[in-house]
Amino acid sequence: MTAIPFVQLADPCHGQAVHVAPLIRRVVANNPSKFTYHGTGTYLIGGDQPGDEVAVIDPGPQLDSHREALSLALAGQRVTAILVTHCHGDHSPLAAWLHDETGAPTIAFGPHSRVTDPDADVPYTDLDEADDESAAADPTLPVSDPAKIEETTDYGFDPDIRVADGQVAVAGAGFTLRAVYTPGHTSNHLCYSFDEQRSLFTGDHIMGWSTTVIGPPDGDMRAYFDSLRKVQGRDDEVYWPTHGSPITDTRPFIEAFIGHRLQREAAVLQRVRAGDSSIAVIVRTLYADVAKPLHKPAARSVLAHLHKLVADGLVAVAAGGAPRLASTYLPA
Ligand SMILES: [Zn+2]
Repeated sequence: MTAIPFVQLADPCHGQAVHVAPLIRRVVANNPSKFTYHGTGTYLIGGDQPGDEVAVIDPGPQLDSHREALSLALAGQRVTAILVTHCHGDHSPLAAWLHDETGAPTIAFGPHSRVTDPDADVPYTDLDEADDESAAADPTLPVSDPAKIEETTDYGFDPDIRVADGQVAVAGAGFTLRAVYTPGHTSNHLCYSFDEQRSLFTGDHIMGWSTTVIGPPDGDMRAYFDSLRKVQGRDDEVYWPTHGSPITDTRPFIEAFIGHRLQREAAVLQRVRAGDSSIAVIVRTLYADVAKPLHKPAARSVLAHLHKLVADGLVAVAAGGAPRLASTYLPA
């Protein structure tokens, strides 16, 4: 597999507003997990002096400590916009509080779609059985908080202002933040470009420490590939992900990121052609070197690849119909 040149964050400095670039501060919430790495990185864009205008990107999860950290960091400044990349539980929930505190509008592509997952209640017993014995097998993965924050969705979030691809979400002193529509991780995912600095806040579209979970039906691998290529076609010099370190070698990084996905897709196709007819069997082979707690999201990722492969006419569902977690698959 293509190695993605992930950068490891040395110290998240939980709760502290750290200047990471001119006009950019980051406050990492204390919600480390297998989905969030060290935690959610909330970005504050603008000056840090009394009266300065500030835009906040992804206020983060409902944590008292994070709310207090943001209050402290923003004291005296004027919050003019609350931008949200998507409404997973580790990104948007504090937007409501921050809106009440400041009166600033919340801005996003739209609320999370209400599409229902036909596999939501399907137990994944085949792999769940193995979870306990190796839950902490990989020392590089934070295991202190197995909270499934990333897996929850903030359906209550509905932005005051909806922005579409290419629109300016907010402009302030020295900064213009523009929406870049990047569906795939979720159907309402936005990145935000910082025009003056040629950098891109990538949310969960491109992360600095891990590949992104694409979970159907709202997650869509075909859309995700398109959105990766969209970012590849830009000339950003820095990616600021919500989780993990900034990415400064953007071009080789995104190439490796796409290459890794293409190889994963080819590997899934190859397993189906080799006779693996179920997702559980494919996951056991392809993710043998991955910690078992990640097999469940991996199954969703394989399902996402199968959705694309079926749509591309390369794989068939034996019983017909849409791909499901428990479907039987055949080469087409
Ligand atoms: Zn997410």
